[in-house]
Amino acid sequence: MSNIQHDATHAPAGMTFFATSDITALTKGRALLTRNVTEGSTIGWVPANLGIGTHGHIVDEIPFGSTGDLRIKPDFASRRTIRGVPDQPDLDFVFGDIVHTDGQPWSCCARTILKDALAALHDEFGITLTCAFEHEFVDRDATYPHHPFSFRSFRSAEPIGTQLLNAMVESGLEPESWLPEYGHHQFEITTRPSAAVEACDRAILIRDLVRDVYSANGHRATFSPVVEPGGSGSGVHIHFSLSDDEGRNLAWDADRPGRVSELAGSFVAGILRDSPDMTSLFAPLTVSYQRLVPSNWSSARAFLGLHNREALVRIVPTVEIGGRDPQKQLHFEFRGADGGANPWLLLGSLVRAGLEGLREELAPAEVITGELDMEGAHRELTALPSSLSEALDRLEQSERVRTWLPSEYLQTFLRIKRLEVEEMAPLSLTQQCEAYADAY
Ligand code: GLU
Ligand code: MG
Repeated sequence: MSNIQHDATHAPAGMTFFATSDITALTKGRALLTRNVTEGSTIGWVPANLGIGTHGHIVDEIPFGSTGDLRIKPDFASRRTIRGVPDQPDLDFVFGDIVHTDGQPWSCCARTILKDALAALHDEFGITLTCAFEHEFVDRDATYPHHPFSFRSFRSAEPIGTQLLNAMVESGLEPESWLPEYGHHQFEITTRPSAAVEACDRAILIRDLVRDVYSANGHRATFSPVVEPGGSGSGVHIHFSLSDDEGRNLAWDADRPGRVSELAGSFVAGILRDSPDMTSLFAPLTVSYQRLVPSNWSSARAFLGLHNREALVRIVPTVEIGGRDPQKQLHFEFRGADGGANPWLLLGSLVRAGLEGLREELAPAEVITGELDMEGAHRELTALPSSLSEALDRLEQSERVRTWLPSEYLQTFLRIKRLEVEEMAPLSLTQQCEAYADAY
């Protein structure tokens, strides 16, 4: 009989990836052996990492140098096992908050920025946000003839679609629907609503999971907002509802326009008021502005629309078939964002904007019904910036939006994005689309 003892340290082991997401909205982090992960485990991080731009280098003129140490502290409530991705081993995965080495929160952690905004919304107004993200993306390597929403396109995308939905189910990402979208080889995946931070965590992971499943099938999926000049846009739509601690829908008021309560109307008014100043936070790529144009079912103007897909904030239709209660369902959809945006930062800024609307008791946003009349009634609607460079100017000069971000975060964001504008400027639009499609 062998006298060799079983040595646990030589046994095959799985890994746990500790993750964060940065200004470029790319998922980053490192892995430990799962058997070594304890409740107290953290991993090392560096302040200057925040300055890594889309091109993969730390940009110059940021407030972080070669010194300083941080930790990614896992939020074990976000732990899950990623399963069902063809050709990939199961992987334990956990999002973390970035903290100093003494455990104090780091002001530039986007996940913490969101959590602080949500806490303020709850503390001051007793409001809890529930969210669900819808993601559109394009299969760059599909060759079959695509027809919008068609069963034929649905079938042509198999077995990728089934693999993807199963991987999402097995990984706890709660997919809701899957469809061939309008654009050429464009698809959309939606998830069930969840608490706001969890919804953003899912949004971050879904993008990686989609790219993984496609890549296992020899295809490249991209969340870039536009893959070819003049083509359909791919958006990231955020559904959100406002409820109190008893779960009552605070957005509902049967007697008001659009059945939107005064409270929710002020929250949305805050978002609309500051949206031109925060456009670079939700549409942060040069090509984002090819998508945010009129008549593209995305949004070029800041308005609240009843069931209108050109609205920046849409009142989502309720389904009342069979006597279903609309009161529980009424909620909003923010339609301006795209896959270049960090979901924590993006939702954090929407919450801050809404919160300011509530604090200042802004007049509820006007509910626009029907199609826009740009020659008449809606001529004066506020337009969103039409380029990244204009959007960055707006952010830099903003009265409020810039104060929601720690100055070091703002400075780094602006530096990365200004440089991105400079680097993209000599490229043709087609080349810019390709560069972003590769990155996202
Ligand atoms: N593709 C559109 C966008 O860029 C949205 C289409 C839709 O309403 O789903 O946001
Ligand atoms: Mg869609």
